[in-house]
Amino acid sequence: MLTAVVGINWGDEGKGRMVDLLSESYGIICRYQGGNNAGHTVINDKGKFVLNLLPSGILRESTVNVMGPGMVIDLKHLAGEIKNLTDCGIKITPENLKISDKAHICMPYHITQDICEEDRLGDKKYGSTRRGIAPVYGDKYMKKSLRMEDLQDMKAAQERLEEIIEWKNLTLKGYGEQVELRSVLAWLERYYQEVAPFVTDTSEFLANEAGKGSDIMFEAQLGALRDIDYGIYPFTTSSQTLAAYAAIGAGVPGVKLDNVIGVTKAFSSCVGEGPFMAEFFGEQANALREAGGEYGAATGRPRRVGAFDVPASKYGVRMQGATTLALTKMDVLSYMEQIPICTAYEIDGVRTDKFPSGDRLLRAVPVYEYLEGFRTDISKCKSASQLPKAALEYVRYIETAVGCPIKYVSVGPGRDEYLELE
Ligand code: GDP
Repeated sequence: MLTAVVGINWGDEGKGRMVDLLSESYGIICRYQGGNNAGHTVINDKGKFVLNLLPSGILRESTVNVMGPGMVIDLKHLAGEIKNLTDCGIKITPENLKISDKAHICMPYHITQDICEEDRLGDKKYGSTRRGIAPVYGDKYMKKSLRMEDLQDMKAAQERLEEIIEWKNLTLKGYGEQVELRSVLAWLERYYQEVAPFVTDTSEFLANEAGKGSDIMFEAQLGALRDIDYGIYPFTTSSQTLAAYAAIGAGVPGVKLDNVIGVTKAFSSCVGEGPFMAEFFGEQANALREAGGEYGAATGRPRRVGAFDVPASKYGVRMQGATTLALTKMDVLSYMEQIPICTAYEIDGVRTDKFPSGDRLLRAVPVYEYLEGFRTDISKCKSASQLPKAALEYVRYIETAVGCPIKYVSVGPGRDEYLELE
């Protein structure tokens, strides 16, 4: 079984907890895009873990975790993540962690460039996490980046790096910054050592496993609306967050997915800048943010929060090709008397349920409907029949509105706090 677990919206939908839950029946979990610019929070019997780079399956002993060639990897950050988990007693070995030799390396100068550019943009900033992700993906496509495999021959890597840094310094000069080859080499040597045992040809490994019929789960970062091509460009991430990219970013372009599990929250949240139509403000926003603990896993930034957005989610479901949905954080809505849902937009006075792009999106005004609140703690519910009628009606409303069956509803952050719908 080949399954992708992906985000339907702006990211932070709770994919990490769904992968942690569902990974039990998958021997292999693979991250296929992005870097340490987002975080998955997983709470299980071993504790609470924030994973920025490592696949969420790393917390299960028998799971093999793959970091695919579509990823960009900050070696220092990864070494730190590995150490944190090892310090908590989690075993990480070349048997359970495999890093693609073709993944690109996010360098300290990418972070410098990211920070300088966000600062230069001022009020017009993209809301980058300032972790170098856009510059490293940019360099990848400019063919001026180093990959993991390049570090297997440090002498050759140094030669290439000399030329790259000469070029990079031309850009950095405009910001009043320069990088030195020596310090970049020292950084690479120090942190590559710590991850080198895990670097391998993950493509061959996955192709063999897929050929044997092994169960593989592909884990996405962020959501459909942050996809570089189909998201809210330019407020997107710099990689492809869609399930269709999973096989490519993982290193097995020829395989076909059996399932796409789309994860969506019972309300909306968005970290960073960009159009976010059904946004709450003031007290209404504070109440939801506090109830949901909506602060960025990677940066601690308060997230923007709002109502479930039907046009955006319907679009996310379509772009992801979702075959089933997991609706997370349903318990968070229990304080609401009435639950607002954004069912359509009005653009220039015309109502639409289609998700627009470009300028039209900026002019979209949300249209709300209100469903009855359930006003009770649902965190102990283990089946649909235990859910209050109003909560089940809310779930069914969303299912019909976005046109995809909801199979899982999570009612708390813990591994067992969820229920399955028929
Ligand atoms: P991801 O990047 O998509 O994995 O999402 P994040 O990890 O950034 O955000 C999800 C947050 O919601 C984490 O702090 C989870 O522990 C928490 N969470 C996930 N599911 C639930 C749920 O059903 N109820 C509550 N209250 N919290 C949840």
